[in-house]
Amino acid sequence: MNCRIVTIPGDGIGPEIVREACKVLDRVSQIYGHSFHYKEVLMGGCSIDACGVPLTDEALETARQSDAVLLGAVGGAVGNSRWYDVAPNLRPEAGLLAIRKGLNLFANIRPAYLYKELSEACPLKKEIIGDGFDMVIMRELTGGLYFGERHTREIDGVLQATDTLTYNENEIRRIAIKAFNIAMKRRKHVISVDKANVLDSSRLWRKVVDEVAKDYPEIKLEHMLVDNCAMQLVMNPGQFDVILTENMFGDILSDEASMITGSIGMLSSASLNESKFGMYEPSHGSAPDIAGKDLANPIATILSAAMMLRYSFDLDKEADAIERAVGQVLTEGYRTVDIMSEGCIQAGTSRMGDLIAERIV
Ligand code: NAD
Repeated sequence: MNCRIVTIPGDGIGPEIVREACKVLDRVSQIYGHSFHYKEVLMGGCSIDACGVPLTDEALETARQSDAVLLGAVGGAVGNSRWYDVAPNLRPEAGLLAIRKGLNLFANIRPAYLYKELSEACPLKKEIIGDGFDMVIMRELTGGLYFGERHTREIDGVLQATDTLTYNENEIRRIAIKAFNIAMKRRKHVISVDKANVLDSSRLWRKVVDEVAKDYPEIKLEHMLVDNCAMQLVMNPGQFDVILTENMFGDILSDEASMITGSIGMLSSASLNESKFGMYEPSHGSAPDIAGKDLANPIATILSAAMMLRYSFDLDKEADAIERAVGQVLTEGYRTVDIMSEGCIQAGTSRMGDLIAERIV
């Protein structure tokens, strides 16, 4: 298979971790006979330095012409006045919002998986962790409360702020279809999360999700109220396969789910549009405190590359091979400093990439 991949190393540890992900992809291409063609573009602080804006129209267009985008991270240390003493739309993170909007990436997928080898880092009790957990959160990314009309007014001398939460049935249907399709590649269980006992938008959400479910008879669908879901995630995380939810609920629940895995350096993510196109990135930021020191954990980015193979290119076997290689390296006791524990062997960013690449079979 021939795939055109745009890489956006970005700032901080971004270039180091993207380099390792490409190393692993190159190994996959060698073994499985694919051709991955990379084109690098600037975004974030490095683009501000070179072009005066966090994302140029040309960079966005290059990304649009590709089959998928692999992103490191953008942003600098708080206090970096060169990038932050400017209007919000000119700061590094504005590039991220602009590319998500420009590529119409409405579906955000964040897996939360607990590696047996890292279960000590999980803040939950052993009896709750049980056999571990392996879930993905499918969050609607371009609608709902964060994109609704808002204003603050003074009425009779009293300040009043209003935010509006609007979803139309098409926005709900397209994200539900994505969630069901992903569940078909997993354990075929969708839990749709809403607040249908209170909100009209949630009642519409539930109705449309029920309609979509009729096209997926193999999938078990359940509905769960968001407050209950927040509790269930820390009481019985093993029950979840695919969680489908709207923007704000997904924002909060996906952070809760990533917290219980215990390590930010391990968590991948994907944002998809209507087609198979997607942007793949680690869930963490640019970690300027450790940039350039060969200390960053590249695993979240490597696993994001695996998601790219699975969701944009339908290369499930190859994605499995990357995930297995990551598991094997952990089982052999190799750790970057953020996940280091007693008796393990410390590896830097580049060595960790080599170890994973060598274990791709
Ligand atoms: P961060 O995720 O960059 O770092 C938080 C802590 O986790 C730091 O101590 C860091 O060293 C550590 N860490 C993060 N990733 C790691 C990895 N792969 N390996 C080892 N340790 C890792 O969050 P922050 O410090 O709040 O933000 C730093 C910058 O990143 C800010 O400019 C912020 O705006 C930006 N940011 C960007 C994105 C993105 O590009 N998607 C997301 C979040 C934050």
